[in-house]
Amino acid sequence: MRTAYAATSSKLRILGFHGVEDLERFGVLIDAICDRYQPVGESEVAAALIDGVPLPAHAVWITFDDGLASTFEAGPLLAARHVSATAFVCPRVLDDGGWLWFQAAQAALDRDELIDVDGTPLTLQQLKGMDDVSRRRVHDRIAESLEAQGVESPTPVTTVTLGEWLDMGHTIGNHTWDHPCLDKCSPSSQVDQMRRAHRALAERGFRPRFFAYPNGNWTPEAAAEAEALGYVGSLLFDHRLSSVSGDPHRISRLRIDSDATLDRTLSILSGAHSAAFQVVAR
Ligand SMILES: [Zn+2]
Repeated sequence: MRTAYAATSSKLRILGFHGVEDLERFGVLIDAICDRYQPVGESEVAAALIDGVPLPAHAVWITFDDGLASTFEAGPLLAARHVSATAFVCPRVLDDGGWLWFQAAQAALDRDELIDVDGTPLTLQQLKGMDDVSRRRVHDRIAESLEAQGVESPTPVTTVTLGEWLDMGHTIGNHTWDHPCLDKCSPSSQVDQMRRAHRALAERGFRPRFFAYPNGNWTPEAAAEAEALGYVGSLLFDHRLSSVSGDPHRISRLRIDSDATLDRTLSILSGAHSAAFQVVAR
């Protein structure tokens, strides 16, 4: 592990979290990360990508996807440790609330409800693999059923909360309007998803500079649109250490849970876990 640590000091690690389940435990995790790695924020990564400004050795960038309420509760904890994090949000549920499709599907599955097409049951993974138009039809049915049963959708995050997040030194990125898997969308709907999210954030005074592909699913159309919108970079979810010298709209990221054990976290950060993951994935 020590050898991997030294050998990969010039690599950037981008950690991709979602929600933060247990703040205290997450604080311990962030402390352990800060002991061994050098936190960098969006602006340093952007400077490295645009102007080739070198990143410090053992650089780590903390990111969160989906804009969950619990993510923003971790803002003060990160700021107190001088960590500038980036949250990738879907404006569809900003202020108004409601379900992102995978949250509704999970809520239905948790209630032992059958998600099906013509009687064939579907898993979350199978939903991700459906073409987007069909997947939306299934989602509408699920959301309707949850509403009829009075199941509450997740706590909405507001523009005010995002403003407070920025005031703490963190940043906001684009994660599409409502989180479809872009490789299952038509080219025009991919562009629409990204532009609509960009506009909604800009109207609220935010200036997103990075994009994160929902589920990490890269497409050439989305990469081109990120470039057209003036984004500095776009993030995958491929569980690899990152580099700032390759394609800026295909930047690797390590997936991690906020309640991961210390051993697992350090293994993921070392790159050893990443190499093992790639072998398994092959
Ligand atoms: Zn996501």
